[in-house]
Amino acid sequence: MNLHEYQGKEILNSFGVQIQRGIVATTASEAVTAAKKLTEETGTGWHVIKAQVHAGGRGKGGGVKLAKNLEEVEQLAGQIIGMNLITPQTSAEGKKVHQVLIAEDVYYPGDSEPEEYYMSVLLNRANGRNMIMYSTEGGMDIETVAEETPHLIFTEEIDPAVGLLPFQARRVAFNLGLSGQAFKQMTKFVSALYTAYIQSDASLFEINPVLKTSDDRVIAVDAKVSIDDNALFRHKDYEAMRDLREENPVEVEAKAVGLNYVDLDGNVGCMVNGAGLAMATMDLIKQAGGEPANFLDVGGTADAERVETAFNLILKDPNVKAILVNIFGGIVRCDRVAQGIVEAYKNMGTINVPIIVRLQGTNADIAKEIIDTSGLDVHSAIEFQEAADKVQALLS
Ligand code: GDP
Ligand code: MN
Repeated sequence: MNLHEYQGKEILNSFGVQIQRGIVATTASEAVTAAKKLTEETGTGWHVIKAQVHAGGRGKGGGVKLAKNLEEVEQLAGQIIGMNLITPQTSAEGKKVHQVLIAEDVYYPGDSEPEEYYMSVLLNRANGRNMIMYSTEGGMDIETVAEETPHLIFTEEIDPAVGLLPFQARRVAFNLGLSGQAFKQMTKFVSALYTAYIQSDASLFEINPVLKTSDDRVIAVDAKVSIDDNALFRHKDYEAMRDLREENPVEVEAKAVGLNYVDLDGNVGCMVNGAGLAMATMDLIKQAGGEPANFLDVGGTADAERVETAFNLILKDPNVKAILVNIFGGIVRCDRVAQGIVEAYKNMGTINVPIIVRLQGTNADIAKEIIDTSGLDVHSAIEFQEAADKVQALLS
């Protein structure tokens, strides 16, 4: 589950990670009230108005603006709330902004220049260990840094048996070129950040930038936080942070009825049972010259009602040009699934795309007969290759 910046910062703060302070607002007048309150609490004169959407690169898209007085706070918040924010990480249509974070300005001048760093905590899947990835090149895309100056990216791997050790936090501060007060602040920041990551059951923290202020404080200016869905039962308070407006509506609907659906960019809808078969089916579609439009696992019970719900979900995607049903009848019998498909098809009236059905397993031959004699635009296949050939023929 992805969170908004303000929610991520709230979690960081609850574990003692220093953050840029802010208050969320949904209207321009709320923004002004928030700005006044922040001035009282932090003494800040300037404020940053930050669009809260689930996408990075907001600054580049005009979703992060500096306001030097309350009139500007009102005006900029009014502009940003309700806008369709397009960033390098959103689709071409962009994302509607429902709320902004009014934050204290932390780039104030002082004895030294503020410095931006990059820091993330994530799982290194190659060896199953968490790692802290960090760089002196903050504020830019880490992908660009990785491409152009990979030697400026450092990693610190954490042994799960002992956790982050103090020397590791010191090494981070050292590699970032810090000394004195800033060095101490960074070691505290890193260890609090790692504790927060573990305790919140996060799957990703990305803090870009981490800022060293001109008076040597170290704070999180941005926060991209993802919490592991499988751990949400332990964190009811985080679960309440879910913002369904930010999620794909078809995925939300599928989840509500217990179907595992993931939206993809292609043109062939897939209905399968089991994640392994889903992977194989997506490969098959690619080899046949198509692109999967989704990943939909109907699970063990592929009865008529479930099949119909699944068809309805797949057909909500206007890019779908054909549907491939690839189901292995082990627990569920193929003839029952075939019956379900035919019934669902009839109930739905018009389905304007061809359907290729591959049913393999118990009673596969009976299932094929049910499909073949149904008189519908449904094509049966028993072999994997046969299904691939039919997809190819129907797409061309
Ligand atoms: P992103 O563009 O979605 O990654 O949003 P960020 O939260 O990282 O903000 C984008 C940029 O806004 C940062 O890299 C900073 O350069 C700038 N910014 C953020 N906070 C402040 C602030 O307090 N003062 C000033 N002057 N700039 C800020
Ligand atoms: Mn950022």
